[in-house]
Amino acid sequence: MATPRYVEQNAFGLASCDDRGAIAFDSEIAPLADGGIVRDPKSDELIPAPAGTIEYVLPGRTPLTSIGPIAGRNTLAVALPAGYTRLLLPAYAARRDAPPLPLFGYTFACAVGERLHVAAMRTDESEIWQPRAFAAGELEATVERRLARDPANRILRQVALCSLEYGCFTAQNVFLECGEAALPVSPTCNARCIGCISEQEADAGIQSPQARIAEETAATELAAVAIHHLERVEDGIVSFGQGCEGEPLLRSITIARAIEAIRHGRANGTINLNTNGSQPRALERCIDAGLDAVRISLNSFRPRVYAAYYRPAGYDLGDVLESIRLAIARGLRVSLNLLTHPGVTDDEEEIAVMERFLRASPVSMVQTRTLNIDPAVYFEAVGRPKAVIGMRNAIERIRQRARVGNFTHTH
Ligand code: SF4
Repeated sequence: MATPRYVEQNAFGLASCDDRGAIAFDSEIAPLADGGIVRDPKSDELIPAPAGTIEYVLPGRTPLTSIGPIAGRNTLAVALPAGYTRLLLPAYAARRDAPPLPLFGYTFACAVGERLHVAAMRTDESEIWQPRAFAAGELEATVERRLARDPANRILRQVALCSLEYGCFTAQNVFLECGEAALPVSPTCNARCIGCISEQEADAGIQSPQARIAEETAATELAAVAIHHLERVEDGIVSFGQGCEGEPLLRSITIARAIEAIRHGRANGTINLNTNGSQPRALERCIDAGLDAVRISLNSFRPRVYAAYYRPAGYDLGDVLESIRLAIARGLRVSLNLLTHPGVTDDEEEIAVMERFLRASPVSMVQTRTLNIDPAVYFEAVGRPKAVIGMRNAIERIRQRARVGNFTHTH
């Protein structure tokens, strides 16, 4: 990985927006950032904005700076492309009429000379996840051709929607016949995550970016899509548990049957499960059937912080940690999908608990996923920290215990 070039400490200025969204740089004003505690950004936390960075105006939110809030300006934030992890949040004062923010990974940004810089670090170099560009109608035609071959398969219809409407990479991979392919399976969930991307509660005031699948698909449909993929992608990955569904372990009997059918047809590739890890016995059923790898999601190793975000029904963090230990003991490739957020992931207490767990239960990889949520909503739910070590330090500490990345790799 290339040696990052850091900017001079006092070389960065405020980048903010007017009400029409026009961005302006002001090198005379030093912006503040939010790392759970509002402070000056450090030079080793900033990199030039990478290709694929998306800029957002945060309506009704006044940027905080070393000389106080700047009236008449709106806070600028960015969303990072795949392969990067956020280190700092934008710092702002929300005005009374500020609308709720949709589910994006709001990241601090500022000006360095004439160039936008962002608070991020590269955490995965996988090429297959770089932004994709299709010629007009190219993806639609590829999807149509495949659907015509198996019109009754409800999985194919679901991932067609996810490919064309949501731009989901693992759904597109089903049609592009490469990498990791999506196998959504569960319309229900036993958690109510505040930042759920497939279902938001009526009083949340925001829409979920995706509609949750409505039907319980069959093992035969799942196996057919998986076998087709592994026939064409020697080291392919087929993954149960996608953004458009609930919790796959609630359908572990169907998943186990699908895995048996897949392994009856194909010996190659990786059968993976993305899950909240809530039911160790259900996971065991999938492992007995032939599961190869599992990625378990969590936002914290502290029971209070986990419960405040996941709002679990009928399970708790203890069950999730038991699932991780079970999968390690059964020899699976185990990844954690760590939902990262400055001020929570790098809280001194969090780091201590996480290191204790990873020392006793070493996993193959920790995927540092930037949590997509309104920071004010998240801090209201889990609380702000007393002391933090900084996200860059937190990621380096994780690296001492496990490989860090952002995607499920074949090796
Ligand atoms: S575990 Fe997944 S599907 Fe369930 S509420 Fe959380 S984000 Fe949504």
